[in-house]
Amino acid sequence: MSTAPAAVRFAPSPTGLLHVGNLRLAVVNWLYARRTGGSFLLRLDDTDEERSRPEYAAAIEADLTWMGLTWDRFARESDRYDRYDAVAAQLKAAGRLYPCYETPEELALKRTSLMSQGRPPIYDRAALRLSDDARAKLEAQGRRPHWRFKLDHTPVEWTDLVRGAVHFEGAALSDPVLIREDGRPLYTLTSVVDDADFAISHVIRGEDHVANTAVQIQIWQALGAAVPTFAHLPLLTDAGGQGLSKRLGSVGVNSLRDEGIEPLALASLLAKLGTSDPIEARPSLEALAAEFDFAKVSRATPKFDPEELVRLNARVLHATPFDAVAGRLEAMGFAGADRIFWETVRPNLSRLDGVAEWWEVTHAPVTPVIEDAAFTAAAAALLPPEPWDEGTWGAWTAAVKNATGAKGKALFLPLRLALTARGHGPELKNLLPLIGRERAVKRLAGETA
Ligand code: GLU
Repeated sequence: MSTAPAAVRFAPSPTGLLHVGNLRLAVVNWLYARRTGGSFLLRLDDTDEERSRPEYAAAIEADLTWMGLTWDRFARESDRYDRYDAVAAQLKAAGRLYPCYETPEELALKRTSLMSQGRPPIYDRAALRLSDDARAKLEAQGRRPHWRFKLDHTPVEWTDLVRGAVHFEGAALSDPVLIREDGRPLYTLTSVVDDADFAISHVIRGEDHVANTAVQIQIWQALGAAVPTFAHLPLLTDAGGQGLSKRLGSVGVNSLRDEGIEPLALASLLAKLGTSDPIEARPSLEALAAEFDFAKVSRATPKFDPEELVRLNARVLHATPFDAVAGRLEAMGFAGADRIFWETVRPNLSRLDGVAEWWEVTHAPVTPVIEDAAFTAAAAALLPPEPWDEGTWGAWTAAVKNATGAKGKALFLPLRLALTARGHGPELKNLLPLIGRERAVKRLAGETA
């Protein structure tokens, strides 16, 4: 694959919260930027002023930051209206932008009538044929125009990094509206102006934008700007094959974070989903970037499976070094948690907050489960003096085995139940020194300690 530094962008509209589908596009853009030593622009497509909200913009930035998807450049479309006005003027002067006066009802009628004749609902360019008089009359009635881009009726072609050769006939497309009746520019225009001004080399987005790309390529050309390379990824669906809506629920990035999903688990899943690589946790975003390649990205629709995410979450935690988690453990109130504690309990975690259970077992009173008091009392009597280390458990249980004849599960399970009040958990050779002699003696005697 080409490794020329790529300039990419992630361009969410702050009209809602991010879900895993949007986030996947952010991840892929970011990985590609890092893979090529390029740059990642975060652009807020906020020209839809009715639906855009600053709190959504803030939430998007917070989600990306939490994921570690830092941006090298930042832009907000609402800061750039002057620039869009200037480009619109340029397109008008070049005869590529023309005023249209149809109302939404009139347009709907035209569409229905074309479709009832079995014809594609392509705008008929009636506005281009209006005489100056007719236009003046409409203006006098108080009608304000919206503006359409006049497409060239020529083929539009590109080689998509995911879809391969893509071909559209210009004549089969409706001239897109670029400026609304109230003068506001629309996404189809603003996105191209920004991509051109920020010298975006690769537009990586969802396949819901393929038809936009066909018309936007002509806008790039009309602006005399270099047309970027495109990659249109199939959109993620839920496990049942349904599209991910903006009614987020379990697929919202914020709820996954609240549920204790690790950013690296989510990044690993989103980077590998829909590719020919196995879905496995990776130690860092950099490791994921090093493996990213569009040649591995499939055209098939990937499904988001929350169970797969939970599985990866456990894997990520099991491999997380103490230094990476120390600050979080402290913030969660486990101030004395050290490397030994972390390495002891992490193999049993599927979410970080699972630490609380093992913190309690090692640092708080536990009411033991005693099945055979004589057995645990005999075992208690054989506990060696401290200091204890990870060899203590082996030496002690060998002595208990000798003295009582118990072995295997009959030896280990009663000890585990007495020491931790649980039938499962981290390895006792590591746990025992953390519990300490004083607590161990009491628990083996059936006391809450
Ligand atoms: N704001 C657009 C969206 O969220 C951006 C699409 C694009 O990447 O060009 O769909």
